Amino acid sequence: MRHSIVAGNWKMHKTYSETHTLLDELIEKLPSGKEVEVIVAPTFVNLASAVAHLEGTNVQVAAQNMHQAEGGAFTGEISAQMLTSIGVETVIIGHSERRHFFHETDAILADKVNTALRHNMRVIYCIGEELKDRENKQFLNVIFNQLRDGLFHLTKEQWSNIVIAYEPVWAIGTGMTASPEQAQEIHAFIRQEIDRKYDKSVAENTSILYGGSVKPSNAQEIFSKPDVDGGLIGGAALVADDFVAIVNAA
Ligand code: PGA
Repeated sequence: MRHSIVAGNWKMHKTYSETHTLLDELIEKLPSGKEVEVIVAPTFVNLASAVAHLEGTNVQVAAQNMHQAEGGAFTGEISAQMLTSIGVETVIIGHSERRHFFHETDAILADKVNTALRHNMRVIYCIGEELKDRENKQFLNVIFNQLRDGLFHLTKEQWSNIVIAYEPVWAIGTGMTASPEQAQEIHAFIRQEIDRKYDKSVAENTSILYGGSVKPSNAQEIFSKPDVDGGLIGGAALVADDFVAIVNAA
């Protein structure tokens, strides 16, 4: 069901002890009884201890990536089964850094989505245009193609485990945020395309998060837009007070 979500993507930050310090601060400072789902995505090596540390809290733990194969000779990779075996049931797939630095194509990402869903995991699927696409006015095509090639092979039923994160690449880690109006325009477009491909109920039940330089100072305005259901937060998720302020803005 569509609901508010604030997810922190910790990327390749925080050692073991730093992870626990930040989790302790979050446990202490996060509001209780607020209708927003809070997710943190530490690095793989700290996932198991994060799950144990957060037991009994409302904070969920997600992985930042996973491999599409069930297992086998893939040195250095992590499978869906390994994640679910330690209690991680949500995975971020298709982050622009994975697409860019690790050459993950839409076809690879579609495989990853299939594997995650086969293991009953929930997927936070990232899409977003680059600056050149916006300048060439190709951004709606780029976003449509990413949706189509990564997700539109799924059945209606499978969409209950899909969350979308719209993250314009030019806004990630740059301090340049999409304006609330730009975010709303794209979120409404994504919802419209889901409706066109499936139906209104799939479109209305999908949570669509915005990501890209969300900060305490801009979160409330972005989250107030009707098609924005929360955020995927990078840099500001590494500072407890900032992340808590963003959760409070949702
Ligand atoms: P940022 O990162 O908030 O640091 O821009 C967002 C993301 O990459 O998910």
